[in-house]
Amino acid sequence: MDDLSRFCCLNSDCPEHGKRGGGNLTVTGRYGPRKERRMLRCRACKARFSERKGTPLFDSRLPPEKVGSVLEHIAEGCGVRQTGRLC
Ligand SMILES: [Zn+2]
Repeated sequence: MDDLSRFCCLNSDCPEHGKRGGGNLTVTGRYGPRKERRMLRCRACKARFSERKGTPLFDSRLPPEKVGSVLEHIAEGCGVRQTGRLC
């Protein structure tokens, strides 16, 4: 079972837009070298989007390890400046 509770519809015209864990999203397919990325579809508005869209990782030029490190610091409650120093 895919855990989609972190995701929400990204279509701003959709009634479910921005609501996480609403049960409106389904996985329509997978892509990527190891099929590790999911394509999601919203049942309410029929929009399809990548699971990475709308996350800090999407279209990021930073290597994933670096992004993970930055996010960890933010999750630890560090401010942006402090995070910038630590990474
Ligand atoms: Zn939608």
